[in-house]
Amino acid sequence: MNERYDFSQALAEADRCLLCHDAPCSKGCPANTDPGKFIKKFKMKNIKGAIRTIKENNILGGACGILCPTARLCEKECSCTHLDRPIQIGKLQEFLVGHGRKIGFQVFEKPEAVHEKVAIIGSGPAGLSCGAELAKKGYQVTIFEKMGEPGGVLRYGVPSYRFSKDYLKEELEDIFHLGVEVECNHPITREGEAQELLNKGFNAVFIATGLWDAARLFDEKPKGVYNSVAFLSSPHTGQQDIVKEQIKDKKVAVIGGGSVAMDCAGYAVTLGASDVYLIYRRSFDQMPAEKDERIETLEKNIHFLILNQPKGYVTNSNGAVTGIKLVRTQLEPAKDAQRRMPVEIKDSDWTLDIDFVVEAIGNKAFDDSNRVYPEVDVDGKKLIKASLNTCQTSKPGIFAGGDIVRGPSLVVHAVQDGKTAAQTIDSYLTHRRG
Ligand SMILES: Cc1cc2nc3c(=O)[nH]c(=O)nc-3n(C[C@H](O)[C@H](O)[C@H](O)COP(=O)(O)OP(=O)(O)OC[C@H]3O[C@@H](n4cnc5c(N)ncnc54)[C@H](O)[C@@H]3O)c2cc1C
Ligand code: SF4
Repeated sequence: MNERYDFSQALAEADRCLLCHDAPCSKGCPANTDPGKFIKKFKMKNIKGAIRTIKENNILGGACGILCPTARLCEKECSCTHLDRPIQIGKLQEFLVGHGRKIGFQVFEKPEAVHEKVAIIGSGPAGLSCGAELAKKGYQVTIFEKMGEPGGVLRYGVPSYRFSKDYLKEELEDIFHLGVEVECNHPITREGEAQELLNKGFNAVFIATGLWDAARLFDEKPKGVYNSVAFLSSPHTGQQDIVKEQIKDKKVAVIGGGSVAMDCAGYAVTLGASDVYLIYRRSFDQMPAEKDERIETLEKNIHFLILNQPKGYVTNSNGAVTGIKLVRTQLEPAKDAQRRMPVEIKDSDWTLDIDFVVEAIGNKAFDDSNRVYPEVDVDGKKLIKASLNTCQTSKPGIFAGGDIVRGPSLVVHAVQDGKTAAQTIDSYLTHRRG
């Protein structure tokens, strides 16, 4: 894991910036955080100005600095990439936001809430970003959150060793300071409840509920088999001790090859597993996780069992998992190496002895996800149909963004959706006001 910068390291890194007049890095940021501008200000020692640029453009700028896959976003576009190595934009962003707090710099004045009430369902990055932008424009914002604390995946998904919950707490304080209210333990789940909010004094609703159902591998679910959502959220749902007891000094298998699978494998290591196996049916290069995530996972001494397809579980007389039935695979020829599909190798079945399994094969929308907003169109995967340019759904006054619209995506995309939705909601309500 990369160490954080101190002040002199951060300044030295900013000093490497070529100050390109067209700032290609800024065009590479999906949330318009404008790294070209904040790095220039920092380089000129306008520290507060740099922090202001980040936070005004991206209320979760610190979280994004830590979590963005920068190698395929802003840093990919950095002109230094072709000369030497890209400016470490994410690390500079993380440093500057953290430094702002250290020196007690308050970027925003508390705005006066003079406009209508807006309801937001879900306090993940999309909901928080939308709430902050609307509050800045003078709206009264209430976020309804089903869990005990705000943050969405930032709190209940990404493990603490990768994103500290204290850092999240500080970043949330900026949002509360703007006047955004979050009602936790308040799920919006009844039939048509999102629609009802419009009849209860809210003038617009933004749905940002994310994806919280886990895709299942098999119908059977023996004891000791968890899904990624339950596993990663266990420290915050009172389940951590139970999970830890089952894992400590035991053999754990994580099934999947994406970022979430890497997080599950890393978390199993922190809980004291004796061996952790990552099982994936295709090749190392085909894993959906970012390359640096895969390397970091390898560095944790996790065994990569690539080209292996799970076929079922072996259980003992108590119904607890004791093994995974696997079959080896090989990739069929194809022009595009990334598209080579795995085919099972005849008579290559084998069993891996295991004490605990985490299925991390993808998060999805709940099958009844449109129950609370029955008049809003959804697609075959139960994702809400909304334009990415406006976040407008099929129902006037109801907007949606983040993963519940895009499918599994990134924090920075959810932040941008929140900004887009706030802009559209403002235009919609301004127009209605006449
Ligand atoms: C384990 C994991 C690791 C990830 N790591 C990264 C990473 O390193 N970098 C990155 O860029 N992206 C990462 N992502 C993806 C990123 O976290 C998501 O794209 C992002 O959080 C989506 O934001 P969102 O606001 O749409 O939804 P979420 O973050 O899912 O938030 C939705 C919120 O809505 C609440 N909610 C749901 N239903 C209701 C309801 N009916 N009533 C009230 N509240 C409700 C939920 O409790 C939750 O708080 C990761 C995802 C996971 C699962
Ligand atoms: S928000 Fe993410 S993508 Fe955008 S500049 Fe910052 S680190 Fe890069």
